[in-house]
Amino acid sequence: MATTEVSAERTLVSELKEIADTPITRCYQCGKCSAGCPMAEEMDLLPHQVIHSILIDRRDRVLTANTPWICASCLMCSARCPMDIDIAVVMDGLRQISFRERRPGQKDIAKFHDRFLRIIRLFGRAFEPMLVMVTPLGLRERIKQLPLGAMLFLKGRMPLLPHRVKNRANVSALFKESGLK
Ligand code: SF4
Ligand code: SF4
Repeated sequence: MATTEVSAERTLVSELKEIADTPITRCYQCGKCSAGCPMAEEMDLLPHQVIHSILIDRRDRVLTANTPWICASCLMCSARCPMDIDIAVVMDGLRQISFRERRPGQKDIAKFHDRFLRIIRLFGRAFEPMLVMVTPLGLRERIKQLPLGAMLFLKGRMPLLPHRVKNRANVSALFKESGLK
């Protein structure tokens, strides 16, 4: 059990303020963010429930929910919020905290992100066939992905060989700037 101890005065709100500064305390639970979220059906907690849980400092509830990882960063919630709360940025902040704390259940997700970033560093862009190969999936799951892969390949949407971006120095600079090793 890897629940991280946090000092009494360090709340999720204060922690998020440092990495995702947006006025979440303005939230009045209108639910517009959740109503517009295209990923809501897949989420353990809806976006407005995430905000509420942060405000009452239900740390474990928020950081064990799949919501931040299911979030597709489409920004619909942020655009709909009448209080100008950038919920997508909050989701990003929660991913960072969750990643930092190595929360149980996040291990595979963390591995996926790590490998995705390695591919980006290598080619400067995503390369799906390699991503499928290095993603921690079981054999059954891999087999399930085959028809989708074949369809994307036949439609010319998934190359068999990777393309590198021209200026990889810019990619390296971005990694460096964001503090990623
Ligand atoms: S749309 Fe904004 S104010 Fe409404 S519940 Fe979501 S975060 Fe809160
Ligand atoms: S940014 Fe995430 S939480 Fe917000 S609407 Fe899109 S998928 Fe839902």
